[in-house]
Amino acid sequence: MALIVQKYGGTSVGTPERIKNVARRVAKWKAQGHQVVVVVSAMSGETNRLIALAREIQAHPDPRELDVIASTGEQVTIGLLSMALKDIGVPAVSYTGWQMPMMTDSSFTKARIQSIDDVKMRADLEAGRVVVVAGFQGIDDNGSITTLGRGGSDTSAVAIAAALKADECQIYTDVDGVYTTDPRVVPEARKLDRITFEEMLEMASLGSKVLQIRSVEFAGKYKVKLRVLSSFEEEGDGTLITFEEDDKMEQAVVSGIAFDRNEARINVKGVPDKPGIAYQILGPVADANIEVDMIIQNVGDNGTTDFSFTVPRGEYQRAQGILQEVQTHIGAGKIDADDKVAKVSIVGVGMRSHTGVASTMFRTLAEEGINIQMISTSEIKVSVLIDEKYLELAVRVLHKAFGLDQAQN
Ligand code: ADP
Ligand code: ASP
Ligand code: MG
Repeated sequence: MALIVQKYGGTSVGTPERIKNVARRVAKWKAQGHQVVVVVSAMSGETNRLIALAREIQAHPDPRELDVIASTGEQVTIGLLSMALKDIGVPAVSYTGWQMPMMTDSSFTKARIQSIDDVKMRADLEAGRVVVVAGFQGIDDNGSITTLGRGGSDTSAVAIAAALKADECQIYTDVDGVYTTDPRVVPEARKLDRITFEEMLEMASLGSKVLQIRSVEFAGKYKVKLRVLSSFEEEGDGTLITFEEDDKMEQAVVSGIAFDRNEARINVKGVPDKPGIAYQILGPVADANIEVDMIIQNVGDNGTTDFSFTVPRGEYQRAQGILQEVQTHIGAGKIDADDKVAKVSIVGVGMRSHTGVASTMFRTLAEEGINIQMISTSEIKVSVLIDEKYLELAVRVLHKAFGLDQAQN
């Protein structure tokens, strides 16, 4: 007998029929003698609908109230799934984040989990019930409802698996595992049987939305056995996120390609090239809680420097405004911004022991006439910023150039 935490995403619970399917799947695990906790998302499209509704009242919704609204989608699905389970003779009980409770900090719309009370869950499992928990939501010390950021049900599931010391956390979604890149963009993408935790962390942080990054961080911290699988297929082992690099994996120099459209670039031109300038530019941006990603500083003319950096697209107007305020103070010549940019990244632990990976990437993009605006690297990834209109082309040609199209045995 094992203790399994399963998470079903929005598409997997998108219709009453699909919810009944999930119930049948859960019932099968239960019938095999396992204890099962199920974490569910809202029905697909529901969270978007709720957020759009809030925006009709307030262009920039009050974050606390937005969480009150956005969290309701999951409350519906836990009720529906529990009913579907009971209907086929499986004892089940539903919990919202605050009934459990799942305690978080008070950063509305992007709250962090602080602790999970597992008393009720354990008692229910002991009593033979399936526990159905609402993903994406928690409660802070003041009793306010919080949400964990888009895609946060993954994190709820992994955190619950960690708290219960579950044998496995299974993320059921609309693809049958983690692919070499988003299969919606590159149909030739291949499913990976295994991916290392470090690679998955990079892929998630560089834009692959198959797992929310915080769920991967949790899995790493608490060594949760994490697997991504399809909720639509009966067979298949999905993709296992592993903590060791096996021999076979070391052969793949590049394991995957991630991309992110959520980027905007800001250029500050002609600032005096002197100590402290990076701080004077980025300090106010950081104070405004805007996350800066890639940074480039170039030597310009006459003792000046050009400074570029990227921020999330939704924040670029705010970042531009902040810089315009400090423009005279820092003595900048010109500030401009471009929100039609995207980041493409190649990821692989094999890069540690191979040279020439970055140059293959640059050559491949050059051959397609794709201009690289910024570059950043780490031990196991190379990212480039390009014009958004070339994004899909870039992902496709890189996927091919690194041999990811072919089956590798
Ligand atoms: P869910 O609603 O189940 O949480 P998501 O939409 O959040 O599902 O995540 C699954 C989607 O992630 C897939 O449909 C796929 O388009 C996308 N995706 C992006 N990158 C990858 C990748 N490398 N491997 C698999 N899927 C990916
Ligand atoms: N329903 C939330 C969202 O759409 C959380 C999730 O699905 O993981 O972002
Ligand atoms: Mg998701």
